[in-house]
Amino acid sequence: MAKRDYYEVLGVEKNVSADELKKAYRKAAIKYHPDKNPGDKEAEEKFKEAAEAYDVLSDPQKRARYDQFGHAGMEGGAGGFGGGGGFGGFSMEDIFSQFGDIFGGHFGGFGGFGGGGSAPRVRRGGDIRVKVKLSLSEIAEGCTKKIKIAKQIACDQCGGSGAKDSNSYSTCPNCNGAGYTIETVNSFFGRAQTRRACPTCGGEGKVITAFCPKCGGEGVVRGEEVVEIAIPAGVAEGMQLSVSGKGHAARRGGVNGDLLVLIEEEKNPELVRDGDDLLHNLKISVTTAILGGEVEVPTIDSKARIRIAPGTPAGKVLRLRGKGLPSVNGYGRGDILAIVDIVIPTKLTSEEKKLLEKLAEQPNFKKAEGEKGEQNIFDRMRNFFG
Ligand SMILES: [Zn+2]
Ligand SMILES: [Zn+2]
Repeated sequence: MAKRDYYEVLGVEKNVSADELKKAYRKAAIKYHPDKNPGDKEAEEKFKEAAEAYDVLSDPQKRARYDQFGHAGMEGGAGGFGGGGGFGGFSMEDIFSQFGDIFGGHFGGFGGFGGGGSAPRVRRGGDIRVKVKLSLSEIAEGCTKKIKIAKQIACDQCGGSGAKDSNSYSTCPNCNGAGYTIETVNSFFGRAQTRRACPTCGGEGKVITAFCPKCGGEGVVRGEEVVEIAIPAGVAEGMQLSVSGKGHAARRGGVNGDLLVLIEEEKNPELVRDGDDLLHNLKISVTTAILGGEVEVPTIDSKARIRIAPGTPAGKVLRLRGKGLPSVNGYGRGDILAIVDIVIPTKLTSEEKKLLEKLAEQPNFKKAEGEKGEQNIFDRMRNFFG
């Protein structure tokens, strides 16, 4: 297979500067990195091709020879690629050691090569769980809660590094500053080199020789933070919101954990939640049930007056459309369902008793069967509860 021109491989001009070259290689390395293209042979070839091109063009001597003699100048010669137009002499370790200066000492968060799980460990602070209790109107409107949270925060004396000062570091003796160690493993490449975060320095390439006196080298101290939590309308008991980066700070300058907010609902004595609907047990008098009238129904933050039709039976459901809770997805709004409950007086004056006894003799109060075709209480319950 004929080799492509190295300048063409990286998409740069012949007079490209070292900086431009580095940028172009970085772009290609990210695009074709095997971790981003698992199992893609073509991407793997492009990745190697770019690494080889960069290796030559970033070295002034090799570049001069390449400019003069082309690929022929690279094969078999001192510092060449081992002949045969192949890539045999240029190991994955070489590629990854290039990455050291391209990505500033780290691999920019890439995973392992062919193996996975070997990226330098990014320390992450723990998550913090808090509960927030909300009233019905807070749920209906959405709200912002300010909460003071006791947590690990970055040490202000060392800026979270854990070191006494900038001179309190030495190169890691285990990895000689690379931050990783190379192992040979069998993988889909055949035998491939894989890198593991250095266990001694945790991938940092350096170790602390004198610790910060305030945090003792942890990089974090006990502290507190007031966090504002924006809670959308329509949330419900048991839902969990996640506020990214507001959890514990990580040891020595890693990534903060998250703040996890568990929603709780304050019990409302008059309105019981059923999804986005609110149920209300609407007590009316016997006479209102028979004669009809106007009654009050509590709403989320006020009251509504509704008409009771004459002859309203117990269990009848009166619907106040749109007076419930907004859907948390932002679509529509629930209703208030007022379920009629007829209050039967248990204490009567002698006059009331006389009146009722007289009433009981009247034709419409004598029978207890109701009208033919009228819904009975089981039908009403079935209609309501589905
Ligand atoms: Zn400190
Ligand atoms: Zn190390």
